Amino acid sequence: MTTQSTQPDCVFCRIVAGELPSHEVYSDDHVFAFLDIGPVAAGHLLLIPKTHCQNIVDLPADVASALGGVLPSMARAVVDVAGASGVNILQNNGACAGQVVDHVHFHLIPRTDDDGLGFRWRVGGYEAGEAEALGQKFRENLSQK
Ligand code: 5GP
Ligand code: ZN
Repeated sequence: MTTQSTQPDCVFCRIVAGELPSHEVYSDDHVFAFLDIGPVAAGHLLLIPKTHCQNIVDLPADVASALGGVLPSMARAVVDVAGASGVNILQNNGACAGQVVDHVHFHLIPRTDDDGLGFRWRVGGYEAGEAEALGQKFRENLSQK
């Protein structure tokens, strides 16, 4: 079971419960936001659901909706407070994707033109017919959900 209200050994559940300290910036019935302890840039926030969900694959739609509903105001706050000219919203799922804390979270990272941050993208392409076949597989998969 990866989705439950709280998990005693989860660091983010413990932060939500007030058992571990954090620099809270926002809280409502469903979500909690706080400063990342290891900021990529000053003002780097984490937005999490109050209920324990391991990653986005397990996330119930209502919890996703609550998170998505506050993301724009969180991003605006990052721009205003951190003096950023842009924001990256990063969301890691699974160890292979860089997820370290197994409680779903969105990183909001303030960006400026000259901050020197970046992502390692390896841009590829598709063979003839590959994109059409993949698109069809996705449409079939999503029509069953
Ligand atoms: P992930 O790699 O799982 O996407 O990111 C986990 C993030 O959680 C990291 O950026 C890390 O700095 C942050 N983090 C881990 N433990 C704590 C903590 O106890 N308090 C806070 N505020 N952030 C934490
Ligand atoms: Zn948790």
